[in-house]
Amino acid sequence: MSPTALDARTLHRSGLVLDGHNDLALRLLEGDDPAHRLEGGHLDLPRMREGGLDGGIFAVWVDPGLGEPLRRTLAGLERLRGWADRTAGVRRVERGADLDAARTAGEVAVVPGVEGGYGIEDDLSALDRMYDAGARCLTLTWMRPTDWADAAGPEPVHGGLTRFGRKVVERARTLGMAVDVSHASDRAAEAAIEVAGGGVLASHSGARAVADHPRNLPDELIEALAASGGVVGVVFFPAYLDEAYGRAFGALKAEIGADLSTRAQRRAFDRTVRDRLEVPPLSRLVEHVERVRRVAGPGGVALGSDFDGVPALPRGLRDVRDLPELTVALAGAGWSATDLTAFLGENLRRVLVEALEGA
Ligand SMILES: [Zn+2]
Repeated sequence: MSPTALDARTLHRSGLVLDGHNDLALRLLEGDDPAHRLEGGHLDLPRMREGGLDGGIFAVWVDPGLGEPLRRTLAGLERLRGWADRTAGVRRVERGADLDAARTAGEVAVVPGVEGGYGIEDDLSALDRMYDAGARCLTLTWMRPTDWADAAGPEPVHGGLTRFGRKVVERARTLGMAVDVSHASDRAAEAAIEVAGGGVLASHSGARAVADHPRNLPDELIEALAASGGVVGVVFFPAYLDEAYGRAFGALKAEIGADLSTRAQRRAFDRTVRDRLEVPPLSRLVEHVERVRRVAGPGGVALGSDFDGVPALPRGLRDVRDLPELTVALAGAGWSATDLTAFLGENLRRVLVEALEGA
C-alpha cells in the first residue's frame, strides 16, 4: 500500500534523504556562507532542513577554461573542507560510518566530490592529493572529453576510456572514492562500470527512454549500473528531462551566446532562462524516476538534483524546500514506503558505504 500524502511527508522527514549531486560549493567559492539563508539558488543549511535533505555529494567543479584545474580543484576542496569542519550541524564524510554518525547526530552529511577528471591533469598521483583533500567521489568527465575519457554529447575520441582512463577508475576505487559516470559517454560509462566492479553511480542523469538527451542514460546502461550494485541519481534539470525544453534552452543559449565567466553573468543568464522558458511540470521528473526504477529495480534509483548547478527546476519545485513534494508525487503514483525510503537515501548510502571502503 502506498502512503497517503501526509504519511509521505512524515516518511520524508523521518527517513534518510541523500542527494547524488549539488553545486553548493560554487556559492562557497563565491564567498557566501551557506550556514545562513542565502538569496537565490537552491540550497543552504536552513533550506536543506526545511526540505528534509540530510546530505549528499557536494561537487567541487572548476571552470576548465580558466587553467590550472588541479590547483583550483584542490583549493575548492580545501574551501569545502574548511566550511564543513567549522560549521555546526555539518559533518564531512570520510568513511561510510560518518554517514551514520551524521544521521544519529542530526547533522548534514557532506561527501565532497570532484566534478571533472581534467582536474587531475593526467597525473594519477593527483587523485591521491584530491583524496587527501577530502574528495570521496570522482565524476570522470564534464561537458568535454578529458585526455582519457569521452564525454556525453561531443563526438567520442577515445572509444570510451583509454588505458590510462581505466587506471584512473582503478585508482579511485583503491583509494575509496565513488566513481561517477554522469557526463561520461555511454561507452566510457560502460567501461568504468566494468573496471570498477562496484562503487559506481550516475550522480545526476535522467532516463534516455523518456527524453532523448546524451546526458540521460539508455536502459542498457541503467541495467548495467544496477547489476553492478550502483545507482542512478535522477537529475532535476528540465533541459535533460524534457525534449522541448531542452531544445528551447539550447536555442536561448546560442542566441545569448553567453559568456558565463563572472557571477553577475551567470545570474543574469539564469534569470533570462527563468523569464523566457516555461518549465515542465514535476510529473516529468516523476516519469524519469519511474523509468529508472522500472529498469534498475527499486535498489537502483536515487536523487540527483543538481541543485545550484542549474538555472531552473520543474514546476512545483522552488528549491530544496519543496523536495517533499517529489516524495508525495511518487507516493501518489503508488510507490510503497519501502521503495520510497530506498529512493530517498538508502540506495545512495549503500553505494557510498561500499565505495568509501575502497577496493
Ligand atoms: Zn554536472
